[in-house]
Amino acid sequence: MRIGFIGLGIMGRPMARHLIKAGHDVIGYDLKEVGFGGTWAGSVAEAVKDAEVVITMLPADPQVEAVFPEISANAPEGALYIDFSTITPQTSQKLAAKWPRTLDAPVSGGEKGAVDAVLSIMVGGSQEDFEAARPIFEAVGRTYERVGGPGAGQYVKAANQLVVGGTYALIAEAIVLMEAAGVDAAKGLDVLAGGLAGSRILELKRESMLARNFQPGFRIDLHHKDMGIILDAARGAEVAIPLGALTAQLIASARALGHGSLDHSALLLVTERLSKQ
Ligand code: NAD
Repeated sequence: MRIGFIGLGIMGRPMARHLIKAGHDVIGYDLKEVGFGGTWAGSVAEAVKDAEVVITMLPADPQVEAVFPEISANAPEGALYIDFSTITPQTSQKLAAKWPRTLDAPVSGGEKGAVDAVLSIMVGGSQEDFEAARPIFEAVGRTYERVGGPGAGQYVKAANQLVVGGTYALIAEAIVLMEAAGVDAAKGLDVLAGGLAGSRILELKRESMLARNFQPGFRIDLHHKDMGIILDAARGAEVAIPLGALTAQLIASARALGHGSLDHSALLLVTERLSKQ
């Protein structure tokens, strides 16, 4: 397929590469010129003008809302628009009302998931567009499901980020506790990873957290944005998520302490500070 790809950052770049590897013709655009193995476009308009599929992988609502008018003004009628960014369900619904073939398709799996093409993708939109997008999801992901109509993918992504943020907060507390008690935290985390407390985060991140290596990955700034989406979604759905609210405050603290551009595992720095470790 001919694909116009906007947003070639930490996630977008490896995703675009996999689409090329799968045989698609990708023309890409980003504010910063980056090599991704496909054709470089000088503008959003140029990237989408002949596209059968338009993809965005942008930081947040303002960026998606900023490029969308240029997409809708220049993409061929009938093009399928897939937004992989994590944004509010309300914005996804607004876009779907303006462009008939729109899928919200936020992803989970982090940079490694994008590089290895094993992302989990939660999709909102019509069944027909979901079926048309299968080859794209196949090229960048491993698990993908249509979870409902427009915006549904973003609600599931909010639930995902709630669990991820809370898990980091608890692993950080486990590390601070074990280190303060003078036990072997590395071996301790190995045991945790093999038992009921085990998780993908513990599996992938325990070594870098213990080494205080917080190179992103997924930036605190982005998770802060996601916590806003989560709290807003909970408010809209009229449910209470007290642990989510607490996690949001810890992430806000990480940001206020100047760690916004570090990986979200840097939540450990907040937990340490709470106990003067
Ligand atoms: P990123 O900041 O690395 O990449 C975003 C890219 O968009 C940047 O290269 C930026 O230059 C570009 N951009 C911004 N405004 C633009 C515009 N107007 N026109 C063209 N390009 C523009 O962010 P990322 O980590 O790749 O995340 C992208 C999205 O994926 C976010 O919504 C994030 O929440 C979500 N996400 C990220 C991860 C992760 O681990 N990084 C995991 C899952 C989901």
